[in-house]
Amino acid sequence: MTHKGFERISICPSGSLVVPDRVVIPFVEGDGVGPDIWNAARTVFDAAVLKVSGGKRAVQWVEVLAGEKAFRQVGQWLPDETIHAIKEHRVAIKGPLGTPIGGGFRSLNVAMRQYLDLYACVRPVRYYQGVPSPFRHPELVNMTIFRENTEDVYAGLEAKADSEEARELAACIEKILKKSILQGSAIGIKPVSKFASKRLVKMAMEYAIRTKRPNLTIMHKGNIMKYTEGGFREWAYEEIRESFNDQVIFEEELVGASSENSAGKVVVKERIADNMFQQIQTRPAEYSVIATTNLNGDYISDALAAMVGGLGLAPGANIGNGVALFEATHGTAPKYAGLDKVNPSSLILSGKMMFDHLGWTDVASSIDEAIERTLGEKIVTYDLARELVGANEVSCSRFAEEVVKRLQ
Ligand code: NAP
Repeated sequence: MTHKGFERISICPSGSLVVPDRVVIPFVEGDGVGPDIWNAARTVFDAAVLKVSGGKRAVQWVEVLAGEKAFRQVGQWLPDETIHAIKEHRVAIKGPLGTPIGGGFRSLNVAMRQYLDLYACVRPVRYYQGVPSPFRHPELVNMTIFRENTEDVYAGLEAKADSEEARELAACIEKILKKSILQGSAIGIKPVSKFASKRLVKMAMEYAIRTKRPNLTIMHKGNIMKYTEGGFREWAYEEIRESFNDQVIFEEELVGASSENSAGKVVVKERIADNMFQQIQTRPAEYSVIATTNLNGDYISDALAAMVGGLGLAPGANIGNGVALFEATHGTAPKYAGLDKVNPSSLILSGKMMFDHLGWTDVASSIDEAIERTLGEKIVTYDLARELVGANEVSCSRFAEEVVKRLQ
């Protein structure tokens, strides 16, 4: 899939991306509000690239199909060509996808992450001045979550209650683990591996070091789930000690438990998941990078998003080795589909992450600053307008136009 004058991203032997000035990037429009936010986001992306590079750089967006649109057009929810195109082009962006009823997929999003081995879900959460928040000091929130993206209870290993599979699994568990399961139970399996835990923590540590973040917290529930969540904790420490020992200091080694005497090293902390939900609310300034398992990461990223304005402002990326797929944290929000109403910032900011990933950091900063200016002037979509005194409420597409006006 090449287009005249435009080239694909390639990868050099060291593993870094080689990004041409005129680059082809595939997109999935998405279901529900997907087309609304994609059209708005694309307007901002094209304007920012043009403005910042003076026309030297450009993106050729190429549509690849997934979800309802794919099913309507080619009779498949997730065509192989889509997976192939994303692999081949190395970077792609997508709108949210719903869960097909009877489509043979538990979740298209989970399937895409598994097929492409996008093992880290990265979700930065920060506050934009002027955005309504239920917290007195939302400006103290500046955290990036690294959520393991391929295993845990999201691996899809489930057996329906009263099924033959559930009966056999129950019998097996009784025989091997000497524990009985109540008859008629549904059963889910939670795999957590050393391999997946270590590579996730490695990516999170590299990010913390590269971006000079003060600390990294291992979030787990190993006090109860000793071998799965406890395994994640143990392998996280193992990875940090093996690969980053000179660049970190463990919290218990700090004098007076203050990050100020960490001598520029990343402070490694550990928190049990339930406590972590309390900590992000009571002491947000003390946390910067969080590395955690799949379910914990899913929950805490929505909770954090709520602290700084909600899902309409929450971007994300699914990253593997040499492939990355950028997407908003939220879902298809079906009740707002086609109304040109929802906040497109989630996808615009996912695009900002994508441009950072490409090394087009000037484009990324320009987008971020324009969003900040727009929100700062109280030009907002319905979600923020309902909480903001003196808001100038605009539609999804108009919000994008206002951001474009403020690009510098
Ligand atoms: P959702 O689509 O994330 O929406 C939940 C609520 O969040 C909305 O009703 C709305 O709140 C708010 N919201 C979401 N996006 C917003 C935006 N851009 N601007 C402003 N507010 C926004 O969650 P859901 O309704 O539970 O899930 C719907 C479908 O999406 C499900 O099929 C689910 O499987 C799928 N899903 C997909 C992804 C993905 O593609 N990565 C992720 C999560 C869920 P108010 O009602 O308060 O206005």
